Amino acid sequence: MKNVLHRAWTEINLSALAHNIEAVRAVLPHDTELMAVVKANAYGHGDEAVCKKLSDIGVSWFAVSNLEEALTVRNVCPDAEIFILGYTPPECAPDIAANNIIQGVMSIDYAKELCKFANTPVRCHIKLDTGMGRIGFRSKDTDACVNELLPVFDMKMLLAQGIYTHFAAADSPDKHDIEYTEMQEKRIFDIYDRLAELGHRLKHIHCMNSAASIVRPNKRCTLARIGIVMYGLLPNYPVKLPIELKPVMTFKSVISQVKEIEESDCVSYGRTFAAPSIRKVATITVGYADGYARLLSNKGKVLVHGTACPIIGRVCMDQLMLDITDVSETVKSGDEVTLFGDCEITADWLASLYGTIGYEIICGISKRVPRIVIE
Ligand SMILES: *Cc1c(COP(=O)(O)O)cnc(C)c1O
Repeated sequence: MKNVLHRAWTEINLSALAHNIEAVRAVLPHDTELMAVVKANAYGHGDEAVCKKLSDIGVSWFAVSNLEEALTVRNVCPDAEIFILGYTPPECAPDIAANNIIQGVMSIDYAKELCKFANTPVRCHIKLDTGMGRIGFRSKDTDACVNELLPVFDMKMLLAQGIYTHFAAADSPDKHDIEYTEMQEKRIFDIYDRLAELGHRLKHIHCMNSAASIVRPNKRCTLARIGIVMYGLLPNYPVKLPIELKPVMTFKSVISQVKEIEESDCVSYGRTFAAPSIRKVATITVGYADGYARLLSNKGKVLVHGTACPIIGRVCMDQLMLDITDVSETVKSGDEVTLFGDCEITADWLASLYGTIGYEIICGISKRVPRIVIE
């Protein structure tokens, strides 16, 4: 698809999204429902289009990071279950309840604060810190933890309907990491079981993220929180998963100028690249202000007519330069190039070049880059 209107854009492939959902559903246990994690504008893909598509293909649970995101999803999916994973200012309790949103509750103090501001009961899931060390009730000691969280069940303005935790290293094949995940799993199930013995049989229990859902699906979980694989990336590149994924986001730009430079001519700020010989150079209209990392200077590659061409010199705010000497076809101003996506250059691979993860790349594509939805 040629897009002459833009200097840089992403294509959001909704068929790829549906494909990934089907691939995940095929490995989830029969009674485990998929909760689509659409926080951070659906990992940068555009939450409205993504949620609408997910809703069309039968996804009815959505997870977000805050109330603003929750309300966006509510607008698109009036009947969905929407879950806020982390802290929402307790003053928002009436809005949470009015929009039938479910809030994660990570401490007794937070539970009390929510109740203070609520005017009707707020549905909630109790968050356990089983080893992530982030938010949640500390849960090393089952009895102590149960005693600490029991008062939640007596709070008139809270309706506790589930319990959840988050794994720290479920994406790692390392033996010690696997043991750690097993320990985290044991902690949440022990607490769930003890609560049930005390008469509080919670409807929902969830701990699996993408990696755990595929590598160690647990049929006791009623929900699986699926983020990164839904967007077609790996939780821990280059560790492969036994399902076939398709990248949903493809990042594209265009060539503004093609020129020839001579041996020892420099390219871009700081003169970090000097031509070893006569080179053909293309400038493209994308830069770090679009979310293309400056750390990819002299490292990244961009597809030009199917050939992966090296970035030469520093990535600028709105532009970067490529060595296109090896491209056999004619390259001219206006030609489309692909920065990453559904091609040999993946966001995961690019991320690995400068020490980050694919998640950060897709979430980091900036606001000025239009998301063009393709079916
Ligand atoms: C972001 C997030 C997820 C999704 O993780 P993926 O690795 O993208 O599947 C699940 N649970 C919580 C609590 C999260 O914050």
